[in-house]
Amino acid sequence: MSEAGGIQGRCHCGRIGFSFDTPLAPQDLPLRRCSCSFCRRHGARTCSDPAGSVRFEISEPAALRRYRFGLRSADFLLCAECGTYLAALIEHDGKAYATLNANCFEQAETLTQDAPIVVYESETLEQRTARRVAKWTPVSGPI
Ligand SMILES: [Zn+2]
Repeated sequence: MSEAGGIQGRCHCGRIGFSFDTPLAPQDLPLRRCSCSFCRRHGARTCSDPAGSVRFEISEPAALRRYRFGLRSADFLLCAECGTYLAALIEHDGKAYATLNANCFEQAETLTQDAPIVVYESETLEQRTARRVAKWTPVSGPI
């Protein structure tokens, strides 16, 4: 599962990082631009793979900031030190799922594939949870 060559990502200062294992090559990963007011402000390109897994690596737990808004159904993970938006996280039935900000990947500069704009604002909470559980990346380890 955690073969060498997983995708590494981190915030600008490096206090918070992640290791993303996916069978897909970085250039084949599906990227999205979420149209919500939070993601637009960050210019985030997000990425997930339900067949992969992600492990967060937090060298300084006090630097992890969780932000909620709207339906308050996910934690948006930010570094309190450098301000980077790294990922969004949900827990459902005892499991955690994340979508990652691909702009934090080591390979971010080489990801030139399209990142279509997606609009989720008409979803109900139930629809939103079902989509995230189906499409986001399972989280391994603590967060
Ligand atoms: Zn940071």
